[in-house]
Amino acid sequence: MNVVVCVKQIPDPAVPGELTSDHRLKRDGAKAILDESDSYGVEMALQLVDKAGSGEVILVSMAPNGEVSGLRQALAMGAARAVLVSDDALAGADALTTSKILAKAVERAGGADLVLAATESSDGYTGTVPAQVAELLGWPSLTFAKQVDIADGKVTIQRQTEAGYDVVEASLPAVVSVTAGVVEPRYPSFKGIMAAKSKPVDQVTASDLGVATGATGQEITAVTQAPERQAGEKIEDDGTGFERVVAFLEDLKVI
Ligand SMILES: Cc1cc2nc3c(=O)[nH]c(=O)nc-3n(C[C@H](O)[C@H](O)[C@H](O)COP(=O)(O)OP(=O)(O)OC[C@H]3O[C@@H](n4cnc5c(N)ncnc54)[C@H](O)[C@@H]3O)c2cc1C
Repeated sequence: MNVVVCVKQIPDPAVPGELTSDHRLKRDGAKAILDESDSYGVEMALQLVDKAGSGEVILVSMAPNGEVSGLRQALAMGAARAVLVSDDALAGADALTTSKILAKAVERAGGADLVLAATESSDGYTGTVPAQVAELLGWPSLTFAKQVDIADGKVTIQRQTEAGYDVVEASLPAVVSVTAGVVEPRYPSFKGIMAAKSKPVDQVTASDLGVATGATGQEITAVTQAPERQAGEKIEDDGTGFERVVAFLEDLKVI
């Protein structure tokens, strides 16, 4: 079974981000890393292929400047190869353009039975890419998976809900978005890191994939500071503090 994982390479969140004059996140010169959200998809894919006993994990990524640092991290975890779409014409690409690119990259990767992505990325987080990729491929879309099982040509997931989970299934091939916590991502071994350096990365442009670029982007007209975090409410425990805590958690629908 071949599993394709969408992995986004994002500017390292540990380094303060900068904006360009047209209000975009400055990606040039910023150190890129594998979005932690996507490490769950990579781990899930490795486990599914391992369980199936054959096949490979293939990565697809769209990133500027031929960026491969994040891809190498995922290759070091055990993925076999990658398709990277990098093209100056994609500067300012919106989520739909990204999805068109990724859907074509999945086709280029060849023979995918399943596509995994995270529910949302850490730097952009529209949370719309996985469902759009599914629609463009004409495959079922299953979202918010906290468990993924493959059997008899079908994928079955536990779909996280506010109250618990729903069991959802679809025939393969399909696109599944996974939540953080679906599995515990492994740390790459030294051997894995060394092996990743020579694993193939098929670097292509939008036109190689037959995707038209141009007036498909979006314009960011203004950026404002996020409001300061408000101080929380302090509760002096008079013996009923636990009731206030339980009521608070119930309000949040955590319990
Ligand atoms: C202002 C702006 C400028 C941009 N400039 C560029 C640019 O110069 N060059 C460029 O290549 N892109 C560029 N992008 C695209 C951007 O980096 C995102 O890929 C895209 O907007 C997807 O949005 P999202 O992160 O909200 O996706 P979400 O829907 O939140 O992501 C969900 C999941 O989809 C997958 N996914 C999303 N994006 C990618 C990706 N790029 N590669 C692989 N998997 C992905 C991941 O698994 C991710 O966890 C730009 C976007 C914006 C808004």
